[in-house]
Amino acid sequence: MSYLKDFPNAEGYFGDFGGAFLPPELESHFAEIERAWRQLALSADFLQELRYIRRHYQGRPTPVYYARNLSREAGAHIYLKREDLNHSGAHKLNHCMGEALLARHMGKKKLIAETGAGQHGVALATAAACFGMECEIHMGEIDIEKEAPNVTRMKLMGAEVVPVSFGGRSLKEAVDSAFQSYLSQADEALFAIGSVVGPHPFPLMVRNFQSVVGIEAREQYQELTDGQLPEQVVACVGGGSNAMGMFAGFIEDPEVQLNGVEPLGRGTEPGQHSATMTFGKPGMLHGFKCMLLTDDEGNPAPVHSIASGLDYPGVGPEHSYLKKAGRVAYHAIGDDETLDAFYRLSRTEGIIPALESAHAVAWAVEHAREHPGSTVLVNLSGRGDKDIDYVARTFGHNRAG
Ligand SMILES: *Cc1c(COP(=O)(O)O)cnc(C)c1O
Repeated sequence: MSYLKDFPNAEGYFGDFGGAFLPPELESHFAEIERAWRQLALSADFLQELRYIRRHYQGRPTPVYYARNLSREAGAHIYLKREDLNHSGAHKLNHCMGEALLARHMGKKKLIAETGAGQHGVALATAAACFGMECEIHMGEIDIEKEAPNVTRMKLMGAEVVPVSFGGRSLKEAVDSAFQSYLSQADEALFAIGSVVGPHPFPLMVRNFQSVVGIEAREQYQELTDGQLPEQVVACVGGGSNAMGMFAGFIEDPEVQLNGVEPLGRGTEPGQHSATMTFGKPGMLHGFKCMLLTDDEGNPAPVHSIASGLDYPGVGPEHSYLKKAGRVAYHAIGDDETLDAFYRLSRTEGIIPALESAHAVAWAVEHAREHPGSTVLVNLSGRGDKDIDYVARTFGHNRAG
């Protein structure tokens, strides 16, 4: 059997997780998105355009680098898939370009999304500019203030940033606001979801667009090691898109152990972390079933991570399934170890990782200590330029402060 062909099923389920729970007025739109994507995925023109844009605009393939200095220090062989070198500095552009191209082929003029820290908004604004489309990004007023450089980036690239001023004025309200706006213009616009989450077909489509990461990495790793496979593959998990993209390249190799790393934040107390796999239970969020962190009333719980791209109370349905199936091991790494890894990779290799990606690096270093000589391939999902001001201001220029 072929895992990637069999999962999800035709209704978008990975075992008990996934599906599409939509307001009736959107059902036909989501059916149309799936129809168009399935058709385009077989179209030579579409694939050729995607390949062209990845190579000549995004700068793919991104390399796999054997991190010699980090490996020496940690005691195992650590390889980095350099998604930090993907245009705009993270893996997110892989699916945003795919979504934009899909939208254009469907005759849509506009891309709509919400953003928290602004990373998804920036990637989508980039894709919209590249394909000559309009872009409307909903963002809470609190986040607009905190993440001013990303707001500037989006505006420079021609996106309209819609400030959200009700409720907590943050990500949750931005989702509601973007969704309302989409409802009123679903004929002309595509709601571009930012990870392997949301109603079917988004978890499937986003995995498919991101699988370029794992397919490249498998080939590149083999090139560097005379045809070997890594013992361990590791990626950080927020919604789960960079991890699913990486895992897609190895999921049919049973000898490769797959690892997802979630944020343990400041500790195990509710509200201090965002470790959905470790502490969550099955539930429903934003139109799909997944593992979920809830409060006492059963509502999505408040979450924390030093990496704002990882603080989501749910997780992709496929990760929820892969944990239950035992195919992927999920670990939780706290803010402190993450900062250690952030400084360590910067100092040893001259590569400043995103705080999200530093979670995966931290796991690799810990694994190396316990398993000297083993081989670990890390998905370095993004670069840390966005984080340096915060880190240096709060913790200093090195671990000693
Ligand atoms: C957004 C982001 C993530 C988390 O998203 P996933 O869908 O879990 O991959 C991880 N790393 C970086 C650099 C990000 O910007």
